[in-house]
Amino acid sequence: MTTTDIATLIASHMREVSDFPEPGIQFKDLTPLFADAAGLAAVTDALAEAARGADLVAGIDARGFLLGAAVAIRLGTGVLAVRKGGKLPPPVRSETYQLEYGTATLEIPADGVELSGRRVVIIDDVLATGGTLAAAARLLGHCGATATHAAVVLELAALGGRDALAPLTVTSLLAI
Ligand code: AMP
Repeated sequence: MTTTDIATLIASHMREVSDFPEPGIQFKDLTPLFADAAGLAAVTDALAEAARGADLVAGIDARGFLLGAAVAIRLGTGVLAVRKGGKLPPPVRSETYQLEYGTATLEIPADGVELSGRRVVIIDDVLATGGTLAAAARLLGHCGATATHAAVVLELAALGGRDALAPLTVTSLLAI
């Protein structure tokens, strides 16, 4: 499938919801894309292609879990769930960051997964301001891993996330 075909597929399986979860936010819901067999396969393949070279996939809570696991299977790597604050038992490593709406915390286990020297691709559904992916990259860095790239299905280009993440390489399958 060409990059144009994938972009068209994403655009046609996206639900737009105004004023969610806060007034003024135009929420992009990719649930219909993930529920579509051809859509899920196409975005998984394209994200895996972008992620080549990584030896671990980090999926961001919560929609990044779906994609992260699928991409990891395609790449032949494991997957690390980067959780929202308060979900994991201690000890955890955590990072607090600014969201398009409010603040949030990301956490990963402080032990049990060897991260030192790992080359990690971070996967999420939507790139908005970039705060989430930047926090995940910092978190991995604190644990001795390197975020080599980030890959998302949809980029909200006007919010400047790509620039905020530089020099991290970012792939998006559709930028609007
Ligand atoms: P940000 O940190 O601003 O790049 O926000 C990215 C994270 O928040 C991703 O995990 C997205 O799922 C979610 N997100 C932020 N803004 C939106 C939006 N307008 N529509 C859907 N998800 C969003």
